[in-house]
Parts: sequence; C-alpha cells; structure tokens
Amino acid sequence: MIGPLILLPHEGARHLLASPGTRGTIRFRRAPRDNLTVISFVHNGTSGFQTNLRPRRHPLNNADPGGEGLWCTVPVDLHLAWYEMARRHAAMTTFDAFKDMVPVALKDPGNTGYIVLTYAPDAAVTPYTEVPIPVFAGWFVTRRGAEPVRVETEPETVGLDQIRRYWPVDDLAKVTTLLIGVGSIGGAAARALAGYGIGRLRLLDPDRLMWHNLVRHVLPEQYVGQYKADAMHAFLADCYPHTALEAHRLDVVEHADHVRGLLADTDIVLCCADGVGARRTVSHLSRRAHRPAVLGCVLADGGIGEIIRLRPWLDHGCLLCRRQALIDTGVLDPEPELEAAYGTGTLHRPMTAVGSDLALVGDLAAKITVATVLEAAGHFEHRLPGETLTVGLQARRGWTGPFDLGFTGQTRWTPVAPPKLGCSTCAPSG
Ligand SMILES: [Zn+2]
Repeated sequence: MIGPLILLPHEGARHLLASPGTRGTIRFRRAPRDNLTVISFVHNGTSGFQTNLRPRRHPLNNADPGGEGLWCTVPVDLHLAWYEMARRHAAMTTFDAFKDMVPVALKDPGNTGYIVLTYAPDAAVTPYTEVPIPVFAGWFVTRRGAEPVRVETEPETVGLDQIRRYWPVDDLAKVTTLLIGVGSIGGAAARALAGYGIGRLRLLDPDRLMWHNLVRHVLPEQYVGQYKADAMHAFLADCYPHTALEAHRLDVVEHADHVRGLLADTDIVLCCADGVGARRTVSHLSRRAHRPAVLGCVLADGGIGEIIRLRPWLDHGCLLCRRQALIDTGVLDPEPELEAAYGTGTLHRPMTAVGSDLALVGDLAAKITVATVLEAAGHFEHRLPGETLTVGLQARRGWTGPFDLGFTGQTRWTPVAPPKLGCSTCAPSG
C-alpha cells in the first residue's frame, strides 16, 4: 500500500494497552525518504517509556527525531470511519470535524501539523467482523483536516513462531544437522536448512571464499577472504536467530576423526562437498555412526542435479554399493566426474554451472534432509518417493540410467540398491 506508515514497536503497544489513562503524548523518529515514522516514546499520563524496534540496531531506532504528537482512546466508530476513509483515499476535510470526534483537547496544528494516534480497544471485539477495523489508527492533523495514516504494530513474536500451527517447528528445533561443504550448493542448502527451522546447524568447510566463487555463491563480496564456514555463520545469524550455528574450519577427509566426534551428537549429515574423497568419507563415516546422510551434487558439467539419500538400513547400500549397482547394469559411474572439481574454474574444467542451478540443487538437498528427519519423527506426510533424485538442469546427450534426463526440470526418483557382499562400509558392526 503506497502512502505514509507509522510503526508502533511492540513495547510501545504494550505500554499503551496496559495504560491506566486514556491519553498521553508520543514522540517519533522519522525516515522522510521512506515516508516512514516510528513511535519512539510513549507517555501514558503517569510515566514515559522509550520504545525501540527489534533488533536494537534497526536504523529507525537511530533516525532523526520527528516531533511530538499525542495518543488517546476513542470509540470504535472513529476507526470504522478511519477504515472507510483509508480505503477511499479520503480525509476529514476540516480540523473541527476531527476535533469533535476525539475526546481530548487538540491544539492548533499550525502550519506543520502533527500526528494523533487513536486507540480503539473495542476494535478487537467488534461485531464488524467483515472489515478489518484496526485497534490503532494514525491521523495526520493539519488546519485543513485529518488524513488517515496506517499504523502497523510490531507483533510480540516474529519468525517461525508465526507458522508453528502449520509446520513442525518444535520437532525441527531439536535436530542437529552437519553440513559438509559450504560452497555454492552447500551455501544455498545452509540457508534453506535454517529457513526450515533446523535447531542446530554445523557448517564444515576448510576453504575461504574467493572472488571466483562470487558468481555462484549465496555469500556477497564483503565476505571475500573469510573462511566459508565462518562467513556463512555470520550471514545466517542475522536472518535466522532460531538456528544455533557452528563453524568448523575442517576438511572431512583430513579431519575424519574430528568429524567422527561431531557425528556422535548429529542427527543427519548433508554433504554438498564436491570431490569423490569427501563424498566417500561422508558415506562411510555416517554409516558407521548409524546416521542418515544426504549427498547433493551436479553432474555432466552442471546438466544434472543429483541428490542421494543414504540411510543406515540393512537393505540400503552405501554410496559405493549404489554406484557399483549402476556400473553392474551398464550405466557409467558419474562419481569420477566429480573429482574434476567443477567449481574450481581450472583450465581443465571451466565453470559451467550457473549459481542459481546450484542453489536449486542445494535447496532440494535441504528439503530431502528435512523430509528424512521428519519422516523419522513420525511425520509420514514427509515421506519421499525414492532414495535418489535426479533433476534435469540442461539436457545432456550420451548419459544413461537415471541420468538420461532429456528436459530441463525433468525429475526422476529411483529406489535404493542393496549392499554388496563384502562391503566394509555396509557390513553390520559388531
Ligand atoms: Zn556398501
């Protein structure tokens, strides 16, 4: 909605709602460029309170002072009139008309005018249920009349609490995910996992963000030079305060012992690291730790996205067993392709995949990770149709098996292959 807006911080609303009086003064801060006003101080007739927006560093909390106004309690009829005027972009055309409708003495608005905030407690219990009559309404009062101004009240809670009724927020808040590889796919996956409400997210990556990463990474240029795990930690902390973040500057292959320790209190692993070594290590370590793992990557120079779910079940093969099953049926093993490190932009392998395609794979990998923990927690509406998903990003010729996707956006779910005899990863531990 175009037009001026007044923000009422939650603590300000709380003081007004609990006020023993029916009128008082208010002060503002203003951001004229945004046509925006925030109520920065309320006086309830007895005492005054500073009011700030969350978070404390919100720029409006330090904006220029924007003068003084007043607030008063009014009958709900005035807010019905406010609603009708706002809807029609109309205004009260004389100062006296407005003056007669409010139960306080209004001073001459002079040439500059002032804001009146009206509070209609009955709007919350109004019989006019078909129209959204506001509890708080704003009026810009001048000698020419009074113009309705929209007031938005900051709710007590924002974020995941808003969707608690529709999304298993509490179950996901208990989940710890270890994300291995915070590159272009992993960065997008990290953001998605936090968005789904994963309670604890461990970010593991030994590399730094460099300029050549920027074309595809979710992190902006200001993080160049930092460790990707640390940068992602900082990036997500602002947007997802409900997710506890940990940064680990570790390589899953080189620091396998340390990762084994982390797995002890990790619920699920998501591996978005490229390179055969990292993926095989994740497959082995998570299997031996009896933890499910999800592996996300792109194949065929960015032509196909692939997400494999590895569950430590007796009839589910590990990564190697499942790749071997493909080879046994005459499908080429796509794994060595990953060794070429598509993301490094070396002479051998130019950077072919576009950032948003990698982010799409990261988002899907996060979705599959979350679905896996939700299914395990008894949310059977999150069951997946198979154990491996391939998705076409750009059609590639010459690929077979689950990889012969002829169309962009084509998806294919394939079932799991069982463990091979003698596999040291799949062998049941004693
Ligand atoms: Zn195996």
